[in-house]
Amino acid sequence: MPRRKAKRKEFENIRVKDVGSKGKGIANAPDGRIIFIDQAIPGDEVDVLTYKKRKAYYMAKTTYFHNRSRHRTTPRCVHFGTCGGCKWQHFEYEAQLYYKEKEVLENLKRIGKLDIKDSHPILGNEEIYFYRNKMEFSFSNKRWLTQDEINTEQEIENKTALGLHIPGMWDKVLDLKECHLQKEPSDDIRLQLKRFADEKSFTFFDPHEQTGLLRNVMIRTSRTGQVMVVMQFFNNEPDNIRQIMDFLRDTFPQIASLQYIINQKKNDSIYDQQVHLYYGCDHIIEKMQDLKFQIRPKSFYQTNSKQAEILYARLKELLNLKGDELVLDLYSGIGSIALSLAKDCKKVIGVEVIEDAVKDANKNAELNNIDNASFLKGETQDVLNEKLIKRNGRPDIIVVDPPREGLHKNVVKMIREIHPAKLAYVSCNSATQARDMEMLKDLYSIDHVQPVDMFPNTYHTENIVIATS
Ligand code: SAH
Repeated sequence: MPRRKAKRKEFENIRVKDVGSKGKGIANAPDGRIIFIDQAIPGDEVDVLTYKKRKAYYMAKTTYFHNRSRHRTTPRCVHFGTCGGCKWQHFEYEAQLYYKEKEVLENLKRIGKLDIKDSHPILGNEEIYFYRNKMEFSFSNKRWLTQDEINTEQEIENKTALGLHIPGMWDKVLDLKECHLQKEPSDDIRLQLKRFADEKSFTFFDPHEQTGLLRNVMIRTSRTGQVMVVMQFFNNEPDNIRQIMDFLRDTFPQIASLQYIINQKKNDSIYDQQVHLYYGCDHIIEKMQDLKFQIRPKSFYQTNSKQAEILYARLKELLNLKGDELVLDLYSGIGSIALSLAKDCKKVIGVEVIEDAVKDANKNAELNNIDNASFLKGETQDVLNEKLIKRNGRPDIIVVDPPREGLHKNVVKMIREIHPAKLAYVSCNSATQARDMEMLKDLYSIDHVQPVDMFPNTYHTENIVIATS
């Protein structure tokens, strides 16, 4: 039976006026709904065809351009439009920054209903390509096929892929010929690894059947020049694994840390997996300001090293430390915030859930001769309790830097009870940041808002909020 097609609608002469959810263009439909338009940017005047309808909005694709926005620019990458990596490559950087800053402020005002004393202009990047220090590329035996390939009569020979997932499709991987997100040797490693795997006919992961040898590869580059490569395999095929690891070790002398994981779970997260060291060190060293950090595979580190430096320096500046403060750094990762503040305050205590990151953080204090910083392992919602405060005293400052979901409600409750004089909230999601700050706004005034762009050519923005009691 033919599949019933959703009723599609055409709208003509639509003017895109803003950007919204997932970086799509926003326009008004004549019936009052909002239209989210793929790849459209403010200033575009287009005809669109809808592909989804909800109570308040449509999702649509452009079918015709009457006028292209003056903010359009030429994307650099051949994969632009298909790849989910940099959806805003066609959007002039200055305009990206304008809309990023606008979104942060709107979220804080609309969701958080916050009064903001001082909002500072967003801090942009000097280089908007090759800014990431970490990439994870997936192997798949189901390469995303172009329309030309689908239309051709000929049998498609090579269906393997090593690259990034097609947005919204967990089982489809785009075979990347180039990627403008990470400096060399990233492309070189990915392309040579793929060629070697194809030549040797090693099996690529089949996401439906859950079979195959090659699952994904994580590449970390650093400002010290050290490179980390972590291979993730599904099948345990020791001979083949050895061949692949030897190939990487012998072809890329820059690899200072070569490790692998055999992961037979459904999902490819590595936090509960054993990491095997194959060659070199179990970590690499990264530099930030005048600090050195060791980073292991499971540890989080800001993916844009240059902007991380700017973010932490700005955070320190806005905190205006006097030197006698006790600071809590919640969600501390490898200790990057805590250690960048340590020399200017009395004591810092970090809290982090990933054991390896806590080990890295303690080691990093040692590496930098910092003796007034310590790190505790656990979930912030468990560790932040009366006992912690009794043992260490009431903190003057709490810094939080949670994942996208924001703060656990018990963490908000404890912050209210502890009620430090200053609160700094670093966030990669201003919507959850706004939600959390609303629950604290009766106790605090919002002194500073400082957006920082860590992710050019994407719609993501990092934001610092400084609140005082
Ligand atoms: N402040 C660090 C890390 C921020 S990323 C930096 O700037 O580099 C968020 C960190 O929170 C990650 O390291 C993650 O492992 C950790 N995390 C996630 N959930 C957590 C929880 N419930 N309790 C403590 N740490 C958590």
